[in-house]
Amino acid sequence: MKRVTVLAGGVGGARFTRGLLAHLAVVAPDAAVTVIVNTGDDMWLDGLRICPDLDTVMYTLGGGINEEQGWGRPDESRRASAEIAAYGRGWSWFTLGDLDLATHIVRTDLLRNGSTLSQATEFLCRRWQPGVRLLPMSDQPVETHVCLAENIDDHTAGDYIHFEEWWVRYRARVAITGFEQRGLADSVAAPGVLAAITEADLVVLPPSNPVVSVGTILAVPGVRQALRATRARVVGVSPIIGGAAVRGMADVCLHTIGVETNALAVGLHYGARTNGGLLDAWLIDETDAAALPALLHAGIHSAAAPLWMTDLPATTAMAAAVLALV
Ligand code: GDP
Ligand code: CA
Repeated sequence: MKRVTVLAGGVGGARFTRGLLAHLAVVAPDAAVTVIVNTGDDMWLDGLRICPDLDTVMYTLGGGINEEQGWGRPDESRRASAEIAAYGRGWSWFTLGDLDLATHIVRTDLLRNGSTLSQATEFLCRRWQPGVRLLPMSDQPVETHVCLAENIDDHTAGDYIHFEEWWVRYRARVAITGFEQRGLADSVAAPGVLAAITEADLVVLPPSNPVVSVGTILAVPGVRQALRATRARVVGVSPIIGGAAVRGMADVCLHTIGVETNALAVGLHYGARTNGGLLDAWLIDETDAAALPALLHAGIHSAAAPLWMTDLPATTAMAAAVLALV
């Protein structure tokens, strides 16, 4: 096990990868891990480029994450945000802490001076040393928007709003008719992304949101083909336990694309690689073990294990279960 590649969103992908690194440190100390991160949640805010999932992975693996929140920095203050609000600017529902702002300022400065997002990410990682190669899925801006099914505040049914506004401001409680991933169809995988998949020994789809995190990465042109072509085993970990999204509102996203919120349905949504899908194997929670026969019948080698990422030992054990599957 030399090269492991993970296709991650924010919190779920970051926490899983932390356990993966802890496990590999014991069983395969010279393994190299690449994390390909969703950039569909990226946006411009107050003139700054914000990359929520890249930052969550970078801070989590670099020891700079606010553990309770799962995003942002610990011991934050909000003096700059308050000043921006005093001008009547900014988005009251999206917090930019003072420490976190420094990351966005440095990133935006690099981008404005001609760096690609990959180069800016590499630069930021020189400080955080996440212990993985962190790659944005694409250097082109891709932004997930949602189409509202109802009127809310100054928005009208049929309007599109940025995914983060729907997710953070409205907690995904406003009905939507679908997602539109602007820029995705014409995007190009960032340097190293396709090779990290085709040349890996193991590819993991961690317990990240299957629609707006993993699903977005999978829709970058070339990524699905790379997953089909790789000689690596492709293993997924269910983000759904006992019919519910463990943290967050992934159930609403699944419902919007017509997939039931359970470990079996999400496994079948990714599909068996032997049958045109992506998965060689699928790890589900113990409480969902009743789904194992149906998964095996669909051609997906599956097993059940505790999948709550409550602490580092539990998450490390999850990574061990993934490796045991292959
Ligand atoms: P985001 O970009 O910050 O929303 O993070 P991700 O897309 O990487 O992951 C979010 C998803 O991770 C949630 O919707 C949950 O379904 C899943 N998740 C979060 N915590 C856990 C956990 O402890 N165990 C499992 N199996 N899934 C989890
Ligand atoms: Ca995200």
